[in-house]
Amino acid sequence: ARTKLVAGNWKMHGNLAANQALLQDILSGLDACRTEVAVCVPFPYLAQAQMLLTGTQVAWGAQTVSEHAQGAYTGETAAAMLADFGCRYVLVGHSERRALYGESDAAVAAKFAAALQAGLTPVLCVGETLAEREAGATGAVVIRQLEAVIASSGVQALARAVVAYEPVWAIGTGKTATPQQAQDVHALIRGRVAADDAKVAEELQMLYGGSVKPGNAAELFAMPDIDGGLIGGAALVAVDFLAICAAA
Ligand code: 13P
Repeated sequence: ARTKLVAGNWKMHGNLAANQALLQDILSGLDACRTEVAVCVPFPYLAQAQMLLTGTQVAWGAQTVSEHAQGAYTGETAAAMLADFGCRYVLVGHSERRALYGESDAAVAAKFAAALQAGLTPVLCVGETLAEREAGATGAVVIRQLEAVIASSGVQALARAVVAYEPVWAIGTGKTATPQQAQDVHALIRGRVAADDAKVAEELQMLYGGSVKPGNAAELFAMPDIDGGLIGGAALVAVDFLAICAAA
């Protein structure tokens, strides 16, 4: 059976003092929780995460990564640098990166490959906008986003990755996908992977993200193809994040 993972995406929030309090509260509340837990923090706080989380059950990671291994790319951060700070995970292709920073499917696929190359576990984010859902294009969009990665890294690469389905219309809006809506897309994605490799598909950890809260986490995580969550706003509040971890 697949293990469940609850990952926080802090986005561009936090400061040294607030992060320390949040991580300490999370650590002291996790005792009974057997699920995998991670936090994806802004780059400047990776050292802090490493200091506070080493030897604990909470893994850490970053929110994006350069597609290049090194070089004259001012302002960028290489996957090996993330590995240097003990990251296990890195988000790639979050919808905010795609929408606000113009990351194409091809760029996301290159970032995915760079993460794997450095031994990190990429968390590939896919998801449709409201307009795409209303046009009946949800399946086509998420499969196109997935296939860009399969085409560049091969389906076997997904054995070392996580996929997060995050419908754009559910992010930060308070509008969660219903468990069945989320399950349908997760099943579609798993089916597409299974068409290439049944074993990789069966073992692929798939997270749902988009307005996951303590009140809706359990019913989402109970769906057969949902293996945990990628949590935005609720990951910044220790009691909420802990309640979501407890629901996994
Ligand atoms: P919210 O949980 O705030 O909707 O954010 C979801 C998200 O984008 C996680 O990556």
